Amino acid sequence: MRFDVWRYRCESCGAEFDGPGFDSSFFYGTFVAYSSNLEIAIWDSCETPLWDEFSALVEADPRAGGISDYSLGDLIRGVASRCLDPDSRGAAFAFAGHCFCPYCDPPGEVHPAGSRDGDWPDPGRAVTSVRWDGLSDEDKAREVRVALDVLLGRPG
Ligand SMILES: [Zn+2]
Repeated sequence: MRFDVWRYRCESCGAEFDGPGFDSSFFYGTFVAYSSNLEIAIWDSCETPLWDEFSALVEADPRAGGISDYSLGDLIRGVASRCLDPDSRGAAFAFAGHCFCPYCDPPGEVHPAGSRDGDWPDPGRAVTSVRWDGLSDEDKAREVRVALDVLLGRPG
């Protein structure tokens, strides 16, 4: 995939930096995740069984009952960001629709402050789930429960 170079401004620390930007609205089922190290992971949810696996575990949780498809999708992406393999330096990928400030911890909100010429040098890589794939079914269910605790802000 090709990413544009965008200029971002961090709302927390005020830093301006160049980062990858991408309009994924034309790619149905393809989600782009960014880490705080500006690495990119691409999840083609139609190509991997992971979506169905996360989806089944999230939907099995009573707290996910009755929520809209839109919110369910957000929850599944939130769970995925906690369960998929992190970037080359151990930072999680997040499906937030934008990249993160590389100077803040936790990463602050960033806003595009204009576009740059040229392509971002990193085309991204496909998401991987080596760690997740090695878990037992019980451990997978527990990880999703813990992720939902964080995402929903309350224990189950
Ligand atoms: Zn910042």
